[in-house]
Amino acid sequence: METRPSQKWYSLAASEVTRALKSDMNQGLSQDEAERRLSKSGANQLAASKRKPLYAVLLDQFKDFMVLILFVATLISYFLGEYLDAITIIAIIFINGVLGFIQEARAERSLQALKDLASPMARVIRGGQLFMIPASRLVPGDLVVLEAGDRVPADLRLFAANRLEIEESALTGESVPVAKTAKPLDVSSADAVPLGDQKNLAFMGTMVTGGTGQGLVVSTGMATEIGKIAHLMNEAEIAQTPLQIRLEQMGKILVVVAVLLTAVVIGAGVWHGHDLFTMFLAGVSLAVAAIPEGLPAIVTVALALGVQRMIKRNAIVRKLPSVETLGCASVICSDKTGTLTQNKMTVTHIWHGDSMYEVGGSGYEPLGAFTLQGKQIAPDRDQVMAKLLHIAQSCNNAQLTYEEEKARRLLGMGKTVKRWQVIGDPTEGALKVLAAKGLGFEAERGKGSKQGVRVEELPFDSERKMMSVVEQMGDGSYQLLTKGAAESLLSRCSHIMWNGQVQPLSATMRHRILDQTEKMASQALRVLGFAYKPLQGYRSGQSAELKESDLIFVGLAGMIDPPREEVREAINLCHQAGIKTVMITGDHRITAEAIARQIGLLRGYAEIMEGRELDRLTDEELAERAERVAVYARVSPEHKLRIVKALRSNGHVVAMTGDGVNDAPAIKTADIGIAMGITGTDVTKEAADLVLRDDNFATIVAAVEEGRNIYDNIRKFIRYLLASNVGEILVMFFAMILGMPLPLVPIQILWVNLVTDGLPAMALGIDPPEADTMYQKPRDKNENIFARGLGWKIISRGFLIGTMTLLAFWLTWRENPSDLVHAQTVAFVTLVMAQLIHVFDCRSQHSVFHRNIFENKYLVWAVISSIVLVLGVVYLEALQPIFKTTDLYMRDWALILVAAGIPTFVAGMGGVLRRRHFGAAARSTARTVRS
Ligand code: ATP
Repeated sequence: METRPSQKWYSLAASEVTRALKSDMNQGLSQDEAERRLSKSGANQLAASKRKPLYAVLLDQFKDFMVLILFVATLISYFLGEYLDAITIIAIIFINGVLGFIQEARAERSLQALKDLASPMARVIRGGQLFMIPASRLVPGDLVVLEAGDRVPADLRLFAANRLEIEESALTGESVPVAKTAKPLDVSSADAVPLGDQKNLAFMGTMVTGGTGQGLVVSTGMATEIGKIAHLMNEAEIAQTPLQIRLEQMGKILVVVAVLLTAVVIGAGVWHGHDLFTMFLAGVSLAVAAIPEGLPAIVTVALALGVQRMIKRNAIVRKLPSVETLGCASVICSDKTGTLTQNKMTVTHIWHGDSMYEVGGSGYEPLGAFTLQGKQIAPDRDQVMAKLLHIAQSCNNAQLTYEEEKARRLLGMGKTVKRWQVIGDPTEGALKVLAAKGLGFEAERGKGSKQGVRVEELPFDSERKMMSVVEQMGDGSYQLLTKGAAESLLSRCSHIMWNGQVQPLSATMRHRILDQTEKMASQALRVLGFAYKPLQGYRSGQSAELKESDLIFVGLAGMIDPPREEVREAINLCHQAGIKTVMITGDHRITAEAIARQIGLLRGYAEIMEGRELDRLTDEELAERAERVAVYARVSPEHKLRIVKALRSNGHVVAMTGDGVNDAPAIKTADIGIAMGITGTDVTKEAADLVLRDDNFATIVAAVEEGRNIYDNIRKFIRYLLASNVGEILVMFFAMILGMPLPLVPIQILWVNLVTDGLPAMALGIDPPEADTMYQKPRDKNENIFARGLGWKIISRGFLIGTMTLLAFWLTWRENPSDLVHAQTVAFVTLVMAQLIHVFDCRSQHSVFHRNIFENKYLVWAVISSIVLVLGVVYLEALQPIFKTTDLYMRDWALILVAAGIPTFVAGMGGVLRRRHFGAAARSTARTVRS
């Protein structure tokens, strides 16, 4: 097999292409052959962009402005002969850099894992069977099936194209979709045909916008057209979040504040007789303390770890900023089928000729009796039923298979079990199972049946809500077989098959059928109608002239699609959390209503609106109504876009799900676009911020909960770090203003700021949520990070920590003014301990007494290790001269613990009193939110 990239695949006939690729147009390659080719051709991937090498990430840690200042300070210490100081500062900078590096590398790794999760899949036929495989495993000669919404997974030579349209802007820049064909191009000249005109080729990376097709892979990976121009596709975006940007801006303001404060402290110190060099070092240390240099790194880590937790709960974040937006979501608009329901459809009822038949069995196993009023019937002997089953079977692209599967979860590894499986659309899968129940599995597979051969397809789309195929029957005649939403289909029927006879469809009969549809829908059944018509004088390839009109109505089938079990609870949770849930479905109004009631989505005065009503409303009217509507039925994807816009214009932060290619605009417009991981098309996944690995509504709610938690945790450690910094600065500031000696030496300030603060702050980043996280209203998208009392908490706690530390210093120093080192050690340890106690206060919005302090074991360990480290610095003789410390006694410890505990105790009591006082009011607000 030779697949020269220069080969003119477009000019070859399909049979020549098949021969050249040593493949088969019906069966594709065998699995073994495909594996063999894969080892030769390599993975079907474009070369990835180079990742930042680790040493560069490490070096980045030392490029920080503050670190540079510290280096300068070190140099000065060195030249002044303070070697010990210089070495210690270097060591502290190094430890801090390594910590930052570990954090960043970890964040980078989990974001990289996200990219891998987003890798695309492809539909391939191997050995005559349809499989979904990772696109990277495709090889030349593979037979690939394309559907609307797919990203073309490799370069293909098409030999089947049903209204196939492909948008090739990724390759040619042209955004108008190209209609593709399966015919060889007639090329007379020797010149190569431009890519845009190679109508029988589909190129890797381009998007299928409509229709279906099949083709053989002619080249993969870097040998494809897009590989040649080495574009990078499918990159998950890793952008900075708005919060990260705002924090960066805040950092700049803090630099200015720090410089000013430092100037004041140095000025006041020198004024009171301290020597210039000591004051310079103290000033630099203070400047370092004032700037929360660890903050951006910890925010990134908190986001990355949050993203990892979301992955564990099946939500894959494609765009990092959406993690923040998720926590603000005030409306979740969800599809019904597959998201709120299980998407495990089973046909349970068939109606024709005024009789309601029931179909037994469950799951995909094609076993189940057809009964009429409790009596079993033979479906193939009833002419109308047989016709209906034939349409269900033929006008269908799903595959029912009976596969041996390795059952890993069963004891006895490697044991195989057989399982019925459906590949393709679940609605169609249910119809395949129905046909197999009625006509037999062998007949279903086309063996020995009287069914004809499909010559053409008018694919399903959610506008028409129907699908048709043209079949050439055994006698050479042609028939159009159609299935679709009952009302849409009925409007295109002029006749009906009634007791074996074809009759004109009277108005009364039409009403009867519509009544019947509603009756079935009210039992939460999805109802599909079936029709056909003979095609006289049909010639193949006339698809443009084929009309789905003047059809002969055959009957109805009703299928159940039970709600997902966890959805009811998830909707309740949303309700408590002040989030409105809205169902948007293409299904019948009554089916939608029945399901909505089952899952508790329709409550109180909530309304239902249909697509056609929505069409009549202006944008303003829709915005006004949208506040009350909980279910939109019989809508098409364009309606979704209007609904998103209406809700957004009311100030909502909207999360919107979608799966089909036409959902992409609505998903893009929503604040949080959500795509289905299983049923979603590539186009929607690429437009989305979030992909649900299990297509489950409850996963969205879990992601919102994580989103809120991540934001709360960011607020927790911002509170901790800034309050600590304020404390550090105020000790020095007040001491200098009041003309006291230096309460802390520079090395101690650096130690507290760079070593004591870091670990507990990181542990706060992974703190479990507070009990009432999902009992609060969604936060305002534009809320300031310091809102809801955070700014006040930072300043008041910082003030208390600072003054208590200074008080402990002053009391010790006053007792023995000659032993400054002793007083400084007391101040140093008081500051450390006050922060390590205060960190527990930061875990709650209410008060430290509201949470179990042992709940976050990382935090407990972080605090213990910080205490052990500081004890080492204080008591180890080798370290005492470096950190200018000395042994402490019981009396000192008593003073330290009281002084260190007061800020948190006072604040905690304040919180308890406030809650007692305002508790009743707060609880009633929570109730209002819920109702
Ligand atoms: P949701 O938006 O909740 O996922 P849906 O899947 O029902 O809703 P569509 O896929 O747009 O929305 O389907 C709309 C209607 O079209 C269905 O109610 C059904 O009657 C009909 N329909 C769905 N799938 C097919 C199909 N494969 N062939 C023919 N008709 C179909």
